[in-house]
Amino acid sequence: MLKKIILIIMLINYFQFTGYACDDLSLPGNPSTTIDWHEGLDDSFQGPDNPNTVFEIDENAYVTFSKIIHGTKVLVAVHKDFVGKSEIKGFKIPTPEEFSERIFKTFNHHWHVFGGYPYDRYTVKIKPFSESSGFSLSKIGVAFGKTTDENTPNFPPHGYVEALEGFVQHEMFHSWLGKLIQYEPNESGNLFQLETWVVEGGASYYGDRSASLIIRKSIYRKLMRQKLNSYKKALNTSLDLSVQALVEKIGPGPPANDNTQTLLYARSTIVNYLLDEELTKLGFDLDILMKRLYEDFGLTNKKWTQNDIVQILNNETNKDFSKFLNKYLLTNSKFPIKRNFKFLKHAAQCSTID
Ligand SMILES: [Zn+2]
Repeated sequence: MLKKIILIIMLINYFQFTGYACDDLSLPGNPSTTIDWHEGLDDSFQGPDNPNTVFEIDENAYVTFSKIIHGTKVLVAVHKDFVGKSEIKGFKIPTPEEFSERIFKTFNHHWHVFGGYPYDRYTVKIKPFSESSGFSLSKIGVAFGKTTDENTPNFPPHGYVEALEGFVQHEMFHSWLGKLIQYEPNESGNLFQLETWVVEGGASYYGDRSASLIIRKSIYRKLMRQKLNSYKKALNTSLDLSVQALVEKIGPGPPANDNTQTLLYARSTIVNYLLDEELTKLGFDLDILMKRLYEDFGLTNKKWTQNDIVQILNNETNKDFSKFLNKYLLTNSKFPIKRNFKFLKHAAQCSTID
C-alpha cells in the first residue's frame, strides 16, 4: 500500500513537471511571492530620467495597458502623442495595442528563461519625442525615448519605431541580466570587462530570439547574420581580437558606439550561440545558465564573476567548459560558423501567450 502511495506521489510530481504549461500565466514562479516594485528603484538605475518619477504614469498623458503575468502586473504606457499615428519621422511605428501585446509576450518569454521575476509590477514606458533622449533601464522596467542625438545622427529616431527590432527585447532582458543579476566590477575602471560577454551577448542573443518569436520569424536570422558580418569584416584586421582584448581596447567610458563596441557585442552574441549549441548537444540549453545566475545571484544580491559561469556550466553538465570558453573569450580563435545560425529550441521556450 505504502509503495503504491509513493508511486502515485511520484507520478503526480512527474506529471506536474512534464505537464508544465508554458503559457499558464497564473504560475507564480520563483520567488512565489512578489516584492513591491518601488524596492527595485535602487542605485542600479541607469539613464537620463529621474528614477523616482519615471515609472509613475500620468494617465492624462499616456494610454496604458496591463496584464498579470505570473503574479507581476506588466504595465505598458504609450504617450498619447503616438496614438493614431503610423510613423515617426518616416519610420513605421506599431499601434499601442500591437506594442503592448509584444511587451506582454516578451516579458513572458524572458520570465521563462529565468524561471521568475521578483517584483509585483514591471513597466515599459514610451516617452514622447519631446522628452529627454535615450532610454532608462532598471530592474523594474524600461523607459524608451528618442534615440537620435549628435552622437548617433543616423540611428532610427525613437525606441518605439519598428526598425529597432530586437532593441526593446534586448533592453527588457537587461532588467534581469545586468540589473537584477550583476557581475562583480573588476579593478580596470573600463566600461566593459570579460563578463560583458554574458551580459551584452546574452541580452542580444535572447533579444534576437524573442523578437523573432514575437514580431517576425525572419528577425533572428537577419540580426544574427549582421553580427556574423561584423565579425567576418574584422577578420585579419587590427580588430581581429578576443573578447578580452576588445574590452581592453575600448577602455574607459562613455560608450562610443563605434566598430570596436559593435564587434565586442557581435563576438559576445556568437559565443552565447555557440555555448547554447554545445549545451543543446548535451540535452540542455543556455537557459540553465540564466536560471542559475538568477537564483544564485539575482535573488541573493551576490555578484558573479567569470569563474562562477564556468562553475555553473561544469556543475550542471558534468563537463569542463573552461577550455571551450577560454578559446573564444581569451583568444581570437575562428568561429566555426559558415553562413546560417540555427534557431535552437529551448525546453522552456514560450512563443505565444493566450
Ligand atoms: Zn545591452
